Amino acid sequence: MYDLENVFAKILRGEIPCKEVYQDEVCLAFHDAYPKAAVHVLVIPKDEVVSFSDFAQLGAERVGAFFRAVQQVVAELGLEEDGYRLVTNHGQDANQEVPHFHVHILGGQNLGGLLP
Ligand code: AMP
Repeated sequence: MYDLENVFAKILRGEIPCKEVYQDEVCLAFHDAYPKAAVHVLVIPKDEVVSFSDFAQLGAERVGAFFRAVQQVVAELGLEEDGYRLVTNHGQDANQEVPHFHVHILGGQNLGGLLP
């Protein structure tokens, strides 16, 4: 069940500000408020989807458009040469905090191993 009061829904409705880096008809990208790396940007779809498992149900066209936008954000952030990491958390074992599907783009430094 999608929570219309989650913080990213509020950002999409313009009720909470964000540091926007990119927007098109399918998604919004903005800087994480509590960055975990030198570059930490979140990309969220404009659809009401809780996590990746919901998002993947939207179909190839929507999913493809979203990930093409993620790639464009990565390129605009200048991360392709030195590298970057994409992360998405689903559910309690992943400690998902915000119940609106999002991809973390992390980079701008050596990110170390996958898990601490
Ligand atoms: P996750 O644990 O994958 O759900 O990640 C949620 C992310 O959202 C965390 O990295 C938070 O720092 C970030 N976050 C929470 N509130 C805001 C906000 N108002 N603006 C930007 N990022 C936020």
